Amino acid sequence: MKCKKCGRKAIANLKQYKIALCECCYPAFYESLVKRSIKRHGIIKRNEKVLAAVSGGKDSVVMVSVLKNLDYNVEMLYIDLGIRNYSKNCEKIVKELSEKIDVSLNVVKLSDYGFRIDDVELKKVCSACGTAKRYLMNKFARENKFDVVATGHTSEDIVSFAIKNIVGGNIEWIGKLKPRIEGFDVKIVTKARPLFERMEKENMLYVLSLNLPFTIEKCPNTPVNDWKEIVYEIESKKTGFNQNFVRGLVRIGEKRGAETKYCKICGEVTSSDVCAFCKLVGRYS
Ligand code: AMP
Ligand code: ZN
Repeated sequence: MKCKKCGRKAIANLKQYKIALCECCYPAFYESLVKRSIKRHGIIKRNEKVLAAVSGGKDSVVMVSVLKNLDYNVEMLYIDLGIRNYSKNCEKIVKELSEKIDVSLNVVKLSDYGFRIDDVELKKVCSACGTAKRYLMNKFARENKFDVVATGHTSEDIVSFAIKNIVGGNIEWIGKLKPRIEGFDVKIVTKARPLFERMEKENMLYVLSLNLPFTIEKCPNTPVNDWKEIVYEIESKKTGFNQNFVRGLVRIGEKRGAETKYCKICGEVTSSDVCAFCKLVGRYS
């Protein structure tokens, strides 16, 4: 298989886009996809100062590298959560990345607040870790005058979370599954997920193509995510499933968030100026 752009040996055959690319041509193609998402969904504005939360895993490594290559004003944040050897190993990777891509790194230690994730009882570890991360990202960003906190969440993260919660009958989260969540209070910094339409395998190809440092070590506390396995399986049978799903979620959010409008002709509730029924009447009567 040959690269469609330059004819060299292709490393990836992207079924969804019907294109095969080599490792030299792939990164620019991938970046153009992220650029389009950011623009289409207004995920990050040009003048905003961005704090990229980087764990050392491939997804957040890709996120910050792409933002840097797209010329955003970006710095990194690494949170040392105090998880056995894992936290120190990840910090080393993130430091290496910071030097390689020339983006400055800020490090916050949970132990400065008097405890580590290793001190939390096993049953509560994941929820405590999530709470600590969200709290520290927001506080650091606000105190250091960042406009946006960006994370490396992928479409699989979002889709698996959505399915898990739909099955659990819990749908309050729906407004949160958007690529950009404005801070609803002066103390809350806007959150951005520039990779929300991207898949993990696309991210893997990007880090490998550019030889970026990243860790394959999994957090020793993270249980296997069955929902994610299911999501991979569906995607393998139905190309584009993840992308369609996350785009659908954005539309649900838009509809829910919009103020109620009334039809200019008949006064019934509508999503545009004239309701669909009056449009039919106008056309066929
Ligand atoms: P997770 O909650 O582990 O699925 O991670 C989701 C996102 O949170 C990652 O893509 C990163 O952007 C960010 N993140 C996770 N762990 C850390 C960390 N220790 N320091 C900074 N950012 C992190
Ligand atoms: Zn090529």
